Amino acid sequence: MQLKLDLHVHTYYSSDSIITPEELVFYAKKRGLDGVAITDHDRLDSALKIAEESKFFIIPGIEITSLDGHIVGLNVDKHVPSGLGVDETVDRIHEAGGMAVACHPVAFFKGSLEKHVTSKFDAVEVVNASAFPFNYCVRHSRQLASSVGVEACVAGSDAHYGPEVGYAYTLVDAELEINKVIEAIGKGACQPFGNAIPLTLRLKRVVLTRLKKK
Ligand SMILES: [Zn+2]
Ligand SMILES: [Zn+2]
Repeated sequence: MQLKLDLHVHTYYSSDSIITPEELVFYAKKRGLDGVAITDHDRLDSALKIAEESKFFIIPGIEITSLDGHIVGLNVDKHVPSGLGVDETVDRIHEAGGMAVACHPVAFFKGSLEKHVTSKFDAVEVVNASAFPFNYCVRHSRQLASSVGVEACVAGSDAHYGPEVGYAYTLVDAELEINKVIEAIGKGACQPFGNAIPLTLRLKRVVLTRLKKK
């Protein structure tokens, strides 16, 4: 079967996100998603907890701040620390049983990996709905993936505000089971889709997340 999955979402356990677990499921269903990956900044406990408590299909993940840019670890079973080099971060993700994704590899203002993307990555996030400039990022991320020989191209919204969930999504040919989904992505049986999050939504997000920090 073909699954529609948003593989990059932040919950309110990330300091810059305001999405509650309930809102995440509400908006994911509203958008017709079959599941999401929770990828909070430098913490895995939130994703593991929500995945365990929710009936909705959730892949536990983490977005790690490596020395040279952000890296998403999907389906990791233990924490991977921030502040390590790219090579070591990818190794740690693999040791934790996970899949290393070069997220928003060429986006401006995002802690992007740029030239640090290598063939060691399992997947490249070609569509990130929050990436700026959007079309440039899609085109260049796709080129980057093929130039380093990474076949699996994925997509995620990078949502930090409920209505942003599902603006980008990955279609995966697999059954609704975490290991099967990860295996299918690893084989490249997936395709990235999506659009840029509209400016009005981004502005609302900026205002609301600032209010949270006060
Ligand atoms: Zn990031
Ligand atoms: Zn992110």
